[in-house]
Amino acid sequence: MKLLLIKNADVYAPEHLGFRDVLVAGERIVKIDQHIDPTGSPLDMEILDAEGHQLLPGYVDQHVHIIGGGGESGPHSRTPEVMLSSVTSAGVTTLVGVLGTDGTTRHLESLLAKARALDTEGITAYMLTSSYELPPLSLTGSPRRDMILIDKVLGIGEVAISDHRSSEPTKEEIKRLLTQARVGGMLAGKAGVMQFHLGSAPTGLSMLRQIIEESAIPAKHIIPTHVNRAPALMEEAKELMRMGAYADITSGVRLEDGFEGGIAPREAIRQCYEEGLPMQQLTMSSDGNGCMSEVRPDGTTRLLVARLHSLHEEIMGAVALGVPMEAAVAVATANPAKANGLYPRKGALRVGSDADMLLLNQNAAIDTVLARGRVMVQHAKPVVFGTFENF
Ligand code: ZN
Repeated sequence: MKLLLIKNADVYAPEHLGFRDVLVAGERIVKIDQHIDPTGSPLDMEILDAEGHQLLPGYVDQHVHIIGGGGESGPHSRTPEVMLSSVTSAGVTTLVGVLGTDGTTRHLESLLAKARALDTEGITAYMLTSSYELPPLSLTGSPRRDMILIDKVLGIGEVAISDHRSSEPTKEEIKRLLTQARVGGMLAGKAGVMQFHLGSAPTGLSMLRQIIEESAIPAKHIIPTHVNRAPALMEEAKELMRMGAYADITSGVRLEDGFEGGIAPREAIRQCYEEGLPMQQLTMSSDGNGCMSEVRPDGTTRLLVARLHSLHEEIMGAVALGVPMEAAVAVATANPAKANGLYPRKGALRVGSDADMLLLNQNAAIDTVLARGRVMVQHAKPVVFGTFENF
């Protein structure tokens, strides 16, 4: 087993621990202390001097189109599968794969295989079962069975509501599916989450609010995403947070990513912090590897694959707006890990946690990324590549 000693890091676990040495053995963190002496170790030990820079848990991105997304402008607009280095270079070490709009030419079987492939390549990948539409797709007969029988299936989603691309599910249908998330989670020993894709229809989050008010299903199973796509929706999401649900900001909802009319992700975090909302229920995901369109200066549009890098940029953006570093970092580490039942193995720097971590440079950009103890990115450049990446 290899040992790696990170010396002199300013540790955000995500709570601020200050300057610490962190010892990694194999895939896990085995010691965090003010001073760890490397002499006399019977095992080979590599030393990484953090030079006082910030060390964070690797990001937990709970909404990534790992086998591609899009397809909404016809078959040529289906985005390709995600490549390992575009995940790791964004600082993401744990992700949850989702299907999205297209549950016809995209399949849960492919999603499961891709999650396993990304695991083999070095990160940690999970998935949600079903897609935008109801009745829900499943691998084994029902979403609940998928959650119980398949380790990688953490929950159900993204099911679309308040969107012209949804199947216009009724409240009763959603309620029944939520019971599958809850009971499936109980029987599998998982958090049992259900993620909702929110579109721009004026109905917003009203259906979810009614379900929380009138059913016995705890609100913690409910994760609405893309809530910063419009100011009114963001306000409704805050209300849902007060009722015990999660609210998931999409970091790619930004002007520079071709998205107009939304609330900048960093600004959404700042608002929640300053308004005293229960910050542990605020999460952010990238919606990465889906399709986005960019309007060129000449007015024509071109299709692009959404990158995952917006996650780190928006976390640091929130810090620049005055949100304390530990609260901002938690939004993409501890909070989504807790929501999905992965904490503290994921989303934390603790003894026993997986050695998933990001070392920043003096400009707060990502310098080094470790995933399960392995250096995946060094000096901002990927050093480990996926099986079929050209490098
Ligand atoms: Zn979506």
